[in-house]
Amino acid sequence: MLSDDEHYDVIILGAGAAGLFCAFTAAQRGRRVLVLEKSNKVGKKILMSGGGRCNFTNLYVDADNFVSANPHFCKSALARYTQWDFIAMVERHQIEYEERKHGQLFCVRSAKDILAMLLRECELVGVQIEINAELGTIENLSTAEQSGFQLEVLQTSKLTSSSSKLCCASLVVASGALSVPTLGGSGKGYDIASQFGLKLLPRRAGLAPLMFSDSIKAICNTLSGNSLEVEVSCNGQSFTEQLLFTHRGISGPVILQISNYWQPGDVININLLPHLEAGILLHSAKAQRGASLLRSVLQQHLPKSLVAELQTLWWPELGDRPLAEFGDKQLATLGKQLNQWTLKPSASEGYRTAEVTLGGVDTNELSSKNMQVKRLPGLFFIGEVVDVSGHLGGFNFQWAWSSGHTAGLFA
Ligand SMILES: Cc1cc2nc3c(=O)[nH]c(=O)nc-3n(C[C@H](O)[C@H](O)[C@H](O)COP(=O)(O)OP(=O)(O)OC[C@H]3O[C@@H](n4cnc5c(N)ncnc54)[C@H](O)[C@@H]3O)c2cc1C
Repeated sequence: MLSDDEHYDVIILGAGAAGLFCAFTAAQRGRRVLVLEKSNKVGKKILMSGGGRCNFTNLYVDADNFVSANPHFCKSALARYTQWDFIAMVERHQIEYEERKHGQLFCVRSAKDILAMLLRECELVGVQIEINAELGTIENLSTAEQSGFQLEVLQTSKLTSSSSKLCCASLVVASGALSVPTLGGSGKGYDIASQFGLKLLPRRAGLAPLMFSDSIKAICNTLSGNSLEVEVSCNGQSFTEQLLFTHRGISGPVILQISNYWQPGDVININLLPHLEAGILLHSAKAQRGASLLRSVLQQHLPKSLVAELQTLWWPELGDRPLAEFGDKQLATLGKQLNQWTLKPSASEGYRTAEVTLGGVDTNELSSKNMQVKRLPGLFFIGEVVDVSGHLGGFNFQWAWSSGHTAGLFA
């Protein structure tokens, strides 16, 4: 339990990916570090990540893999602590890992290995971690000479509950963001930023499935469980990966990726045949096998159930007519639709299932060299609470490690 009137060099809010990394980095410098975690367990998102195997980084980390109002902000931290540094740490701890497609690195055994590694590093350098610790007020005690904060913390256990006043020279906000409240997602970091007058950029769910409220919803419901490789584009970005139909709409890696660039009201374009010029395919099929049905031709490239839905949508009256009876113009239009199916999602599934929160603390308020608030030395923001969000593929954890490491060197 916490004792009253204790003084720490560094207090970190949130025992998630960024907070734990920052904690042992600061403690390795001899700082006295306390981590406050509001929930009853540390690292919940790490444990649930990557389907329980934690996609902990990516071999090809680049600033282009991140979404932020300032795309340059993340570069400094990512260069200071790279994916290679994290991989070396994983190897030092003898954690078995594997590369999956697009350079994504996952644990072979369990995400528990990554959390155990972080906790071991914390233990080695005497980091104090307190769970069930709810933050009350924060008072800024900073003077012109030195930074300082006083925190009111309420800690509850099964038997007792105690309120303490704690002081620290550096306060690091690593409380994550709004995504998946059941795994600790909270807006506390934004409240703290607001308290200190920092600008917040609008927040919305990222890496989230998309839903429909029009007739497409029924099609998705019928096709639920089917998946195929497609190219999806929106607002100048495109990704080629698996799409999964769900009861509510569309999901799968390609949709999670594009959701970072989709805003309500936008359309997305789906290329159902990303490796084929569909118009040419249909015209040559008509020339070579004019007696075939269009659906038979397409079934060689697309799931049968999807082709049946497309037929109802695009050529219902010609469903049982041979290709020879299709006009060239009509085939050209169908080819275009197959390469560019334009859909207008009604909403994303939101924070309930989103892997990240886009937006957050404006990076203009922070120094990219140390993650410190420019006009309030001693206050740091790291991880997902900051307006830096990664693509799917281990980039969000790499940002947590890199930003946590950077703050840990200066807090
Ligand atoms: C289901 C799921 C799977 C994911 N899989 C991957 C993946 O495989 N690879 C990848 O790169 N990214 C993945 N992500 C994203 C990744 O988990 C986050 O980007 C990352 O955890 C952010 O780290 P963080 O430390 O900023 O926040 P978090 O890890 O969320 O940690 C924040 C911590 O702060 C605590 N907290 C909140 N409010 C307070 C408060 N008031 N006081 C004290 N503590 C507080 C929370 O309980 C939590 O423990 C996944 C996300 C989800 C939801």
